[in-house]
Amino acid sequence: SARKLAAGNWKMNGLTAALSELDDLAGRENGCDVLICPPATLITPAVAHAGEIAIGGQDCHAKESGAHTGDISAAMLRDAGATHVILGHSERRADHGETDAQVAAKAVAAHEAGLTTVICVGETEAQRDAGETLDVIAAQLAGSVPDCATAANTVVAYEPVWAIGTGRTPTGEQIAEVHALMRETLSARFGDGGDVSLLYGGSVKPGNAAEIFAIDHVNGALVGGASLKASDFGPIIDAL
Ligand code: 13P
Repeated sequence: SARKLAAGNWKMNGLTAALSELDDLAGRENGCDVLICPPATLITPAVAHAGEIAIGGQDCHAKESGAHTGDISAAMLRDAGATHVILGHSERRADHGETDAQVAAKAVAAHEAGLTTVICVGETEAQRDAGETLDVIAAQLAGSVPDCATAANTVVAYEPVWAIGTGRTPTGEQIAEVHALMRETLSARFGDGGDVSLLYGGSVKPGNAAEIFAIDHVNGALVGGASLKASDFGPIIDAL
Protein backbone atom coordinates (compact mmCIF):
# COMPACT_ATOMS: atom_id res chain seq x y z
CA SER A 1 0.00 0.00 0.00
CA ALA A 2 1.00 3.63 -0.44
CA ARG A 3 3.82 5.00 1.68
CA LYS A 4 3.12 7.64 4.29
CA LEU A 5 4.74 11.01 3.68
CA ALA A 6 4.85 14.24 5.66
CA ALA A 7 6.02 16.95 3.26
CA GLY A 8 6.79 20.58 4.01
CA ASN A 9 6.76 23.32 1.39
CA TRP A 10 8.63 26.36 2.66
CA LYS A 11 7.61 28.38 -0.44
CA MET A 12 9.57 31.68 -0.62
CA ASN A 13 10.52 31.57 3.05
CA GLY A 14 13.79 30.80 4.76
CA LEU A 15 17.26 32.27 5.13
CA THR A 16 20.26 30.37 6.45
CA ALA A 17 19.08 30.70 10.06
CA ALA A 18 16.02 28.58 9.21
CA LEU A 19 18.24 25.50 8.83
CA SER A 20 18.16 25.13 12.60
CA GLU A 21 14.54 23.98 12.21
CA LEU A 22 15.87 20.94 10.34
CA ASP A 23 18.22 20.15 13.21
CA ASP A 24 15.20 20.22 15.51
CA LEU A 25 13.23 17.88 13.20
CA ALA A 26 15.97 15.30 12.65
CA GLY A 27 15.17 11.97 14.22
CA ARG A 28 11.40 12.52 14.36
CA GLU A 29 10.58 10.46 11.25
CA ASN A 30 9.48 7.35 13.21
CA GLY A 31 8.67 5.12 10.25
CA CYS A 32 7.17 7.56 7.77
CA ASP A 33 8.94 9.53 5.06
CA VAL A 34 9.59 13.19 5.79
CA LEU A 35 10.36 15.72 3.07
CA ILE A 36 11.21 19.40 3.29
CA CYS A 37 11.25 21.59 0.19
CA PRO A 38 13.15 24.76 1.11
CA PRO A 39 13.87 27.58 -1.35
CA ALA A 40 16.45 26.53 -3.97
CA THR A 41 19.14 28.64 -2.29
CA LEU A 42 19.00 26.39 0.79
CA ILE A 43 18.87 22.94 -0.85
CA THR A 44 22.55 22.10 -0.52
CA PRO A 45 23.01 23.34 3.06
CA ALA A 46 19.67 21.78 4.02
CA VAL A 47 20.92 18.33 3.01
CA ALA A 48 23.74 18.71 5.54
CA HIS A 49 21.21 19.46 8.30
CA ALA A 50 18.52 16.99 7.27
CA GLY A 51 19.69 13.59 8.50
CA GLU A 52 17.09 11.08 7.25
CA ILE A 53 14.77 13.87 6.08
CA ALA A 54 14.57 14.14 2.29
CA ILE A 55 15.12 17.52 0.65
CA GLY A 56 13.28 18.67 -2.45
CA GLY A 57 12.89 21.58 -4.85
CA GLN A 58 9.68 23.54 -5.44
CA ASP A 59 9.79 23.63 -9.26
CA CYS A 60 12.06 22.73 -12.15
CA HIS A 61 12.31 23.48 -15.87
CA ALA A 62 11.30 20.88 -18.46
CA LYS A 63 14.60 21.27 -20.36
CA GLU A 64 17.94 19.84 -19.25
CA SER A 65 19.91 23.07 -19.73
CA GLY A 66 20.04 26.14 -21.92
CA ALA A 67 19.08 29.79 -22.27
CA HIS A 68 16.40 30.04 -19.58
CA THR A 69 17.48 32.81 -17.24
CA GLY A 70 16.39 32.30 -13.66
CA ASP A 71 15.21 28.75 -14.15
CA ILE A 72 16.60 25.60 -12.61
CA SER A 73 16.77 22.13 -14.17
CA ALA A 74 15.89 18.82 -12.57
CA ALA A 75 19.52 17.70 -12.91
CA MET A 76 20.61 20.83 -11.01
CA LEU A 77 18.22 20.01 -8.17
CA ARG A 78 19.56 16.46 -8.09
CA ASP A 79 23.12 17.73 -8.18
CA ALA A 80 22.37 20.07 -5.26
CA GLY A 81 21.21 17.09 -3.20
CA ALA A 82 17.45 17.10 -3.78
CA THR A 83 15.60 13.81 -4.18
CA HIS A 84 12.13 15.28 -4.80
CA VAL A 85 10.50 18.21 -6.56
CA ILE A 86 7.06 19.79 -6.13
CA LEU A 87 5.44 20.45 -9.51
CA GLY A 88 2.27 22.26 -10.55
CA HIS A 89 1.64 23.95 -7.22
CA SER A 90 -1.37 26.25 -7.58
CA GLU A 91 0.85 29.25 -6.80
CA ARG A 92 2.98 28.40 -9.85
CA ARG A 93 -0.09 27.72 -11.96
CA ALA A 94 -1.45 31.16 -10.90
CA ASP A 95 1.76 33.25 -10.73
CA HIS A 96 3.49 31.74 -13.78
CA GLY A 97 0.60 30.48 -15.86
CA GLU A 98 1.76 26.86 -15.71
CA THR A 99 -0.49 24.51 -17.66
CA ASP A 100 -1.13 20.81 -17.12
CA ALA A 101 0.97 20.03 -20.20
CA GLN A 102 3.91 22.04 -18.83
CA VAL A 103 3.61 20.32 -15.47
CA ALA A 104 3.65 16.91 -17.17
CA ALA A 105 6.71 17.88 -19.23
CA LYS A 106 8.51 19.01 -16.08
CA ALA A 107 7.57 15.72 -14.41
CA VAL A 108 9.10 13.72 -17.28
CA ALA A 109 12.31 15.75 -16.94
CA ALA A 110 12.32 15.26 -13.17
CA HIS A 111 11.88 11.50 -13.48
CA GLU A 112 14.67 11.33 -16.07
CA ALA A 113 16.93 13.12 -13.58
CA GLY A 114 16.03 10.61 -10.88
CA LEU A 115 13.76 12.86 -8.82
CA THR A 116 10.46 11.87 -7.23
CA THR A 117 7.73 14.32 -8.20
CA VAL A 118 5.06 15.73 -5.91
CA ILE A 119 2.40 16.76 -8.43
CA CYS A 120 -0.24 19.18 -7.13
CA VAL A 121 -3.87 19.46 -8.18
CA GLY A 122 -6.77 21.38 -6.68
CA GLU A 123 -9.92 23.32 -7.46
CA THR A 124 -10.58 27.01 -6.90
CA GLU A 125 -13.44 28.12 -4.70
CA ALA A 126 -15.44 29.17 -7.77
CA GLN A 127 -14.98 25.71 -9.29
CA ARG A 128 -16.13 24.04 -6.07
CA ASP A 129 -19.16 26.34 -5.82
CA ALA A 130 -20.03 25.47 -9.42
CA GLY A 131 -19.93 21.75 -8.60
CA GLU A 132 -16.93 21.18 -10.87
CA THR A 133 -14.45 19.84 -8.33
CA LEU A 134 -14.28 16.21 -9.43
CA ASP A 135 -14.10 17.13 -13.12
CA VAL A 136 -11.33 19.64 -12.45
CA ILE A 137 -9.29 17.14 -10.43
CA ALA A 138 -9.74 14.38 -13.02
CA ALA A 139 -8.67 16.73 -15.82
CA GLN A 140 -5.62 17.95 -13.86
CA LEU A 141 -4.58 14.37 -13.10
CA ALA A 142 -4.99 13.32 -16.73
CA GLY A 143 -3.00 16.32 -17.95
CA SER A 144 -0.33 16.78 -15.26
CA VAL A 145 0.67 13.22 -14.37
CA PRO A 146 2.90 11.81 -17.14
CA ASP A 147 2.73 8.28 -18.53
CA CYS A 148 6.09 7.48 -16.89
CA ALA A 149 4.62 7.96 -13.40
CA THR A 150 4.94 5.04 -10.98
CA ALA A 151 4.26 4.59 -7.29
CA ALA A 152 8.04 4.85 -6.79
CA ASN A 153 8.61 8.16 -8.59
CA THR A 154 5.35 10.06 -8.06
CA VAL A 155 3.30 11.49 -5.21
CA VAL A 156 0.07 13.39 -5.84
CA ALA A 157 -1.08 16.20 -3.57
CA TYR A 158 -4.68 17.43 -3.43
CA GLU A 159 -4.56 21.09 -2.47
CA PRO A 160 -7.84 23.00 -2.80
CA VAL A 161 -6.74 26.52 -3.74
CA TRP A 162 -9.23 28.07 -1.32
CA ALA A 163 -7.75 26.10 1.61
CA ILE A 164 -4.16 27.23 1.10
CA GLY A 165 -3.02 29.71 3.71
CA THR A 166 -6.60 30.52 4.69
CA GLY A 167 -7.13 28.43 7.81
CA ARG A 168 -10.12 26.85 6.04
CA THR A 169 -10.17 23.12 5.27
CA PRO A 170 -12.66 20.96 3.39
CA THR A 171 -14.88 18.63 5.41
CA GLY A 172 -13.69 15.07 5.88
CA GLU A 173 -16.33 13.97 3.34
CA GLN A 174 -15.04 16.46 0.78
CA ILE A 175 -11.44 15.28 1.19
CA ALA A 176 -12.54 11.63 1.11
CA GLU A 177 -14.51 12.18 -2.10
CA VAL A 178 -11.57 13.72 -3.95
CA HIS A 179 -9.02 11.19 -2.63
CA ALA A 180 -11.25 8.28 -3.64
CA LEU A 181 -11.54 9.77 -7.13
CA MET A 182 -7.75 10.21 -7.33
CA ARG A 183 -7.11 6.62 -6.22
CA GLU A 184 -9.66 5.24 -8.72
CA THR A 185 -8.40 7.37 -11.58
CA LEU A 186 -4.73 6.55 -10.99
CA SER A 187 -5.40 2.83 -10.45
CA ALA A 188 -7.45 2.68 -13.65
CA ARG A 189 -4.63 4.32 -15.59
CA PHE A 190 -1.55 2.76 -13.99
CA GLY A 191 -2.73 -0.49 -12.41
CA ASP A 192 -0.49 -1.30 -9.44
CA GLY A 193 1.46 1.85 -10.25
CA GLY A 194 -1.63 3.75 -9.16
CA ASP A 195 -0.65 3.03 -5.58
CA VAL A 196 1.09 6.42 -5.32
CA SER A 197 1.03 8.28 -2.05
CA LEU A 198 -1.86 10.75 -1.98
CA LEU A 199 -1.31 13.83 0.16
CA TYR A 200 -3.80 16.43 1.35
CA GLY A 201 -2.60 20.04 1.53
CA GLY A 202 -4.19 23.29 2.64
CA SER A 203 -4.15 24.68 6.19
CA VAL A 204 -2.88 21.46 7.77
CA LYS A 205 -1.92 22.25 11.39
CA PRO A 206 -0.98 20.22 14.47
CA GLY A 207 -4.60 20.53 15.61
CA ASN A 208 -6.27 19.01 12.53
CA ALA A 209 -3.58 16.63 11.21
CA ALA A 210 -4.72 13.46 12.99
CA GLU A 211 -8.30 13.92 11.80
CA ILE A 212 -7.16 14.44 8.20
CA PHE A 213 -4.75 11.47 8.29
CA ALA A 214 -7.62 9.19 9.38
CA ILE A 215 -9.47 9.78 6.08
CA ASP A 216 -9.42 6.94 3.51
CA HIS A 217 -6.69 7.26 0.85
CA VAL A 218 -4.97 10.14 2.67
CA ASN A 219 -1.36 8.97 2.95
CA GLY A 220 0.08 12.19 4.35
CA ALA A 221 0.16 15.93 3.96
CA LEU A 222 1.79 18.73 2.02
CA VAL A 223 2.18 21.48 4.58
CA GLY A 224 2.98 25.14 3.97
CA GLY A 225 2.95 27.56 6.90
CA ALA A 226 3.05 24.88 9.59
CA SER A 227 6.20 23.33 8.07
CA LEU A 228 8.33 26.39 8.79
CA LYS A 229 8.76 25.65 12.49
CA ALA A 230 9.81 22.29 13.89
CA SER A 231 7.48 22.97 16.83
CA ASP A 232 4.52 22.83 14.39
CA PHE A 233 5.77 20.30 11.85
CA GLY A 234 7.06 17.84 14.45
CA PRO A 235 3.59 17.20 15.89
CA ILE A 236 2.20 16.81 12.34
CA ILE A 237 4.81 14.08 11.66
CA ASP A 238 3.88 12.47 14.97
CA ALA A 239 0.18 12.47 13.96
CA LEU A 240 1.06 10.51 10.81
P1 13P B 1 -0.63 26.09 3.97
O1 13P B 1 -0.32 24.84 4.76
O2 13P B 1 0.14 27.28 4.43
O3 13P B 1 -2.10 26.31 3.83
O4 13P B 1 -0.07 25.81 2.47
C1 13P B 1 -0.40 24.63 1.85
C2 13P B 1 0.43 24.51 0.63
O5 13P B 1 0.24 25.23 -0.35
C3 13P B 1 1.51 23.52 0.62
O6 13P B 1 2.05 23.35 -0.66
